Amino acid sequence: METLPNAAVAGLPPLRETIAAHGLDARKRFGQHFLLDLNLTRRIARAAAPLHDGTVIEVGPGPGGLTRALLLEGAGRVVAVEVDPRAIEALHDLQAAAAGRLEIIQGDALSVDVATLGPAPRRIVANLPYNVSTALLVRWLHVADDIADMVLMFQKEVVDRLAATPRSKDYGRLSILAQHVCEVRRLFDVPPSAFVPPPKVTSSVVRLTPRPADQRLADLSRLEKVTAAAFGQRRKMLRGSLLGLFPDPATVLEQLGLSPRARAEELAVADFVRLAGVLP
Ligand code: SAM
Repeated sequence: METLPNAAVAGLPPLRETIAAHGLDARKRFGQHFLLDLNLTRRIARAAAPLHDGTVIEVGPGPGGLTRALLLEGAGRVVAVEVDPRAIEALHDLQAAAAGRLEIIQGDALSVDVATLGPAPRRIVANLPYNVSTALLVRWLHVADDIADMVLMFQKEVVDRLAATPRSKDYGRLSILAQHVCEVRRLFDVPPSAFVPPPKVTSSVVRLTPRPADQRLADLSRLEKVTAAAFGQRRKMLRGSLLGLFPDPATVLEQLGLSPRARAEELAVADFVRLAGVLP
């Protein structure tokens, strides 16, 4: 049975009315594509369970469809970061109905330190604005110690890159950074018709769970450097593409048991981590 605060959340007017009442017509520059189907948003929220302890961080609540779902699925404390002031207005009724379980912060999620948003365990759950989605993810990969779990919606093409294996066309810098830091699990696809307005492409929901701290590099910037050099010239052999980083890349590669003639896409994530470890 739902508790009393959830009865108030469930009793709110439909999201279409909230959007109309606050003139929240979707704006491209904010990457706005809203989810109005509560069955779908509840499915996303359930994928992020357990939600009752710590802090659930939502980036870009917009009119609040996913936010409602998180509260209905039992989130104890949701902190929502939203850049569009019209959406902040539109969320006031939900905040009242949430009876102290929803905090709203107006600002750019790219400049927010997630560790300041509330106690651990911190779970990030979001239908991300596509224009800044990978920038946000890379930022979070750098502070994985502060994050227990992430359930995120991206364009499907981005999830293909996150989950890609060596020797595939989607394998690259993002695959290596994400898979080194997190266990990456693709959950389900969402068609354009589920959004208002519909985007041009299919979206996918993915779970990224940071690995234990002793299984990943403390400083990710070395791995970023190596992958940037290697994939900056994707077709080139590594003995050439790594020349800016090592005076004699062929010898370094040989010492690690790797072929100097290999190309970036042939190396496993662990190989790039070893290369990052021997950067001068
Ligand atoms: N969560 C809502 C939903 O599922 O219907 C809206 C998702 S919409 C794809 C992305 C949301 O992120 C929009 O509300 C947009 O205003 C917000 N947004 C865009 N850039 C942002 C940023 N840099 N920081 C915080 N929010 C941002």
